Amino acid sequence: MTSRRTFITMATAGLGGAVLPGNSGWARGFQEGGELPAVVSTWNFGMAANEAAWKILGSGGYALDGVEAGARIPEDDPAVISVGYGGLPDDRGKVTLDACIMDEKGNAGAVACLEEIRHAVSVARMVMEKTPHVMLTGRGARDFALSRGFKRENLLTPAAKAAWKRWKKAGAHFKPVINIENEILQNHDTIGILALDRQGRLCGATTTSGMAFKMHGRVGDSPIAGAGLFVDGRIGGAVATGSGELVMKTLGSFLVVELMHKGLSPEEACREAVMRIVSTNPGYRDHQIGYLALKNNGLYGAYSLQPGFDYAVRTPSYNRLLTARSLLG
Ligand code: ASP
Repeated sequence: MTSRRTFITMATAGLGGAVLPGNSGWARGFQEGGELPAVVSTWNFGMAANEAAWKILGSGGYALDGVEAGARIPEDDPAVISVGYGGLPDDRGKVTLDACIMDEKGNAGAVACLEEIRHAVSVARMVMEKTPHVMLTGRGARDFALSRGFKRENLLTPAAKAAWKRWKKAGAHFKPVINIENEILQNHDTIGILALDRQGRLCGATTTSGMAFKMHGRVGDSPIAGAGLFVDGRIGGAVATGSGELVMKTLGSFLVVELMHKGLSPEEACREAVMRIVSTNPGYRDHQIGYLALKNNGLYGAYSLQPGFDYAVRTPSYNRLLTARSLLG
């Protein structure tokens, strides 16, 4: 027996903007959840991240502490080759990290192109809480982290170095493919995590080493508030994973939250944001985009362009890995 609530709702707004044929059957939105506290996060490593977040949320703690604790798990795990320590490097063999965090009041902190500091999400939180700024980049971000007591370390593991060398040997050709990580190990992409605590405070975080073998200096969507992550505590939050360039150009996570504000379910809002990208990018089939959203009443949903976008959900009565519905395949 489960107390998990499932909601079927009629969408009330925004569906007229849909751009692809075959959308007419999308009048009904499927929403799941509705319990507090709740935590949702991207990909299969989200299960372990949710577990860490749950230790805080389940005992009445703050959602911001929950998302930070959750995001730190894949940052620590060398087997996760797209986040933190063990992340695949850029074209010069350097591991550069992007992260963002937002609280229920709309405060944001971020780091981009951060090197040699494992817990980018915690540096992002310090940017939010201890500086008058929203984002620090590159050397400035590292100097700030060091000044706050973070440890400097080499994040390039032997396995990631070997993968980079293989890539160089194969011609060093960069293609923003559908989960390049997927081809190497069964791990994926950015962790985006959203949590709603017992007091109804909604917070979110993202952290990633970005696209493998990207150009040195490249920053993706993940550290950009509105692109890889957006939280409006009065409405809900969203996170993105996949081709950051496409997400950035549509401010995808902001769009998802705005669409939920207009009345779409989390899944519908995620789907519309995917459609926005599809409608302006003829080459969309070569990309993956995944959105995951959580409303401030605990309802959640996700949608992706390609099949295979998994996300982890933890509520008082539910602890599972789900697969989002997708446009293709
Ligand atoms: N969105 C990330 C980036 O573009 C990568 C990913 O999630 O796959 O850096």
